[in-house]
Amino acid sequence: MQTFFTPGPSQLFPDVSLYISEALDSQLLSISHRSKRYSEMQQQTTDSLRQLMDIPDEHQIFFVSSATEAMERTIENMVERRSHHFVSGAFAERFFATAVELGKQPAASRAPWGEGFDRQDMQIDADVELAAFTHNETSTGAMLDLSDIYDFKKNHADTLIALDVVSSAPICKLDFQYLDCVFFSVQKAFGLPAGLGVMIVSPAAMEKARRLAGKSLAGSYHSFISLEKSASKHQTPETPNVLGIYLLGRVAGAMNTHGIDNIRRDITERAARLYELIDHHKSLQAFVKDTRYRSPTVIVVEVADSRAVIDEITKHDLLVGDGYGKHKRGQIRIANFTATSDVDMTKLMRLIKSLD
Ligand SMILES: *Cc1c(COP(=O)(O)O)cnc(C)c1O
Repeated sequence: MQTFFTPGPSQLFPDVSLYISEALDSQLLSISHRSKRYSEMQQQTTDSLRQLMDIPDEHQIFFVSSATEAMERTIENMVERRSHHFVSGAFAERFFATAVELGKQPAASRAPWGEGFDRQDMQIDADVELAAFTHNETSTGAMLDLSDIYDFKKNHADTLIALDVVSSAPICKLDFQYLDCVFFSVQKAFGLPAGLGVMIVSPAAMEKARRLAGKSLAGSYHSFISLEKSASKHQTPETPNVLGIYLLGRVAGAMNTHGIDNIRRDITERAARLYELIDHHKSLQAFVKDTRYRSPTVIVVEVADSRAVIDEITKHDLLVGDGYGKHKRGQIRIANFTATSDVDMTKLMRLIKSLD
């Protein structure tokens, strides 16, 4: 068996196979998605997620198919004309492109790959309805400081804030009073099979969606209005990814039992050890130079030839990701998510240390 330190899809949370057999044995996957039993299951998932991520009752939790879909739903339901995107990597670029494809007139601030934005860089025009941030840029390993985003919101109370937390949730601790639409998919730090996206939406975002729906701009079955109507019954508009929603509830429950503060501390410590190793390595370097922007969950390392490094590491049944896009050959990306054990992380670090 191999251990996946790849940044999505990633190593599965250790008990996922047990949860899948339980779902099969209990026939959960054949029951009606309009039944009481289904609704109870979905409610359990949202309850566990609320506890894990400290999501206020006023924020709605919606299930969609992926984070890429969540970007599209965010633009459709929260932007009539103009969003502003803070872009320093491929996923933020995708979010910006989505707004263009939906016929909006988005603006963007761009930073070089491997860098981030601080509060001085976060400037927008007065007509911007939504500011879109990618908290943890999985393509570069750069992470924004949440307190900068909260300060931005304090200075722009009328601007809605969207935050992609795909590769940082639930390790990042969020303050939802400053956030109007937070989304993630589950195949990264949650250690689950792909095919489920989660959106966490504020009352102000719902208000905007209602206005846009009144102008027939908010989309169809996955408009916030339609999602809210179903969510009020702990259901979804369509037949959903029942297994995915069930597994998310079980993993969130297991993380609650373990204690999210313990998990966050462990991940932070592991990241510090990894960066320390790379900073002292004779031939490797961290891609993100400014320590303020270094992600604890996705560590990007500059190498001479990623193919050679990955081949060497794979011999020991450990997998890391190659560089993203144009950095494919010159970088490797290491996911530091909860599903990988400390033993495997130590083994990976020993291997990295031995590379010349
Ligand atoms: C992986 C990723 C996405 C896309 O997620 P999908 O579930 O494949 O749609 C979006 N944003 C970030 C930051 C990601 O890491």
